[in-house]
Amino acid sequence: MPFPTGADADVLICGASFAGLTVARELRSTGARVLVLDRYEIGERQTSACAAPTEWLRNLGLAASIRQTFDSLLVHTPAVERARWPLPFSFSTFDYRQLCEELFEQAGEAEFETAKVIDRTGSQVRTDRGTVTAPLIVDALGWRRVLGPGDNFQPPDGPLSRGLEVHPAGLGEDLELWIDPRYVDAGYGWSFPARDELRIGVGSFDPRDPVKQPTLRLVEDVDASPDGYQGNWIPHRIRPATEDGVFFAGDSAGHCLPLTAEGIRTAFYFGIALGRELRAAVEGRQDRAAALTRYGDFSASHRWKYESIYLAQQSIRHLHGRPLDALTRIFTRRRISDWAFRHYLEIAPPQFAVPAPPAALRSPALRASTA
Ligand SMILES: Cc1cc2nc3c(=O)[nH]c(=O)nc-3n(C[C@H](O)[C@H](O)[C@H](O)COP(=O)(O)OP(=O)(O)OC[C@H]3O[C@@H](n4cnc5c(N)ncnc54)[C@H](O)[C@@H]3O)c2cc1C
Repeated sequence: MPFPTGADADVLICGASFAGLTVARELRSTGARVLVLDRYEIGERQTSACAAPTEWLRNLGLAASIRQTFDSLLVHTPAVERARWPLPFSFSTFDYRQLCEELFEQAGEAEFETAKVIDRTGSQVRTDRGTVTAPLIVDALGWRRVLGPGDNFQPPDGPLSRGLEVHPAGLGEDLELWIDPRYVDAGYGWSFPARDELRIGVGSFDPRDPVKQPTLRLVEDVDASPDGYQGNWIPHRIRPATEDGVFFAGDSAGHCLPLTAEGIRTAFYFGIALGRELRAAVEGRQDRAAALTRYGDFSASHRWKYESIYLAQQSIRHLHGRPLDALTRIFTRRRISDWAFRHYLEIAPPQFAVPAPPAALRSPALRASTA
């Protein structure tokens, strides 16, 4: 079936979750024809526990989707039952569907179609609903990185973490973490309250570790019920953000932070950075080659931070027992926690987000400039 909207776009964004929708939002002022594709309707499939720094959500104009806000983390290890880490900034859980719909609304004239993206040849992307041609192509399809050249890595052999969670109805006051080998050796468990539901799960940095039984154990220990499963692979090594003429953002570029598996704000951050480069391209201020180089370099300039966090992630499995308990207690001191979390936030700071650009009328001249 052909696309009702036609088969061409100035910018084709594959993937309508955090990264893809943020890129579309950034293109709002350009008047370019932006087509966003996803195999599901916008916001249909929640892909995470949906917790992000509150300031990021506010700066993006997404505060209405917030369900609950937390200014500390409650951490449990086998020996330290409750250690409260004060945070220098708050995290909020949010409603996935509402957030995605609001992001898409901010994208103004962008069009959306459901289609399964299959592969790409040059500037043509094949989907189960036909082929779309576009000079600027974004892969925001998550860990599968469908539009890259060659074979993608396959679990469990690739540098992937895995996470599984359930969403029972329930109330909670704290954002809680369990760093405890009873649940998982290399990873952690969590319970993130979101007003009337709890998002309880376990993540492992080792793709061979099972996470279903550990999740069920944690759910039982906190007296909840295992309703509403959702899980996914999470890439934990940064990858080239441009390859073979395609732009990658979010999990497709390995932008999720390796130690914490926090990938929403980084999908926003790199989505904004990419959107700005694409905007300059469709407005004729730079050509496609320059956009590829500049965005690729921007992402690569973060590599050392990602690699440092990856090293911490790899060492966590050796950090059980007394060293872990000591570290857990140290972070209850506000000065230490402030220092560490501020550095952590700086990797993708919320000041990077500004309100969505104003809408502009579509100009046919723009298409010529990107061809
Ligand atoms: C259990 C779990 C809990 C998590 N909790 C958090 C959290 O609380 N906070 C946080 O910051 N991070 C969390 N993460 C990580 C976070 O979910 C990811 O880093 C983030 O979703 C990446 O966003 P993205 O837009 O790059 O990709 P995704 O959110 O994975 O979106 C990819 C999109 O592409 C679509 N798609 C994929 N393949 C195709 C195809 N072939 N054709 C068409 N469409 C396709 C999908 O439907 C989806 O909409 C969690 C991850 C897991 C697994």
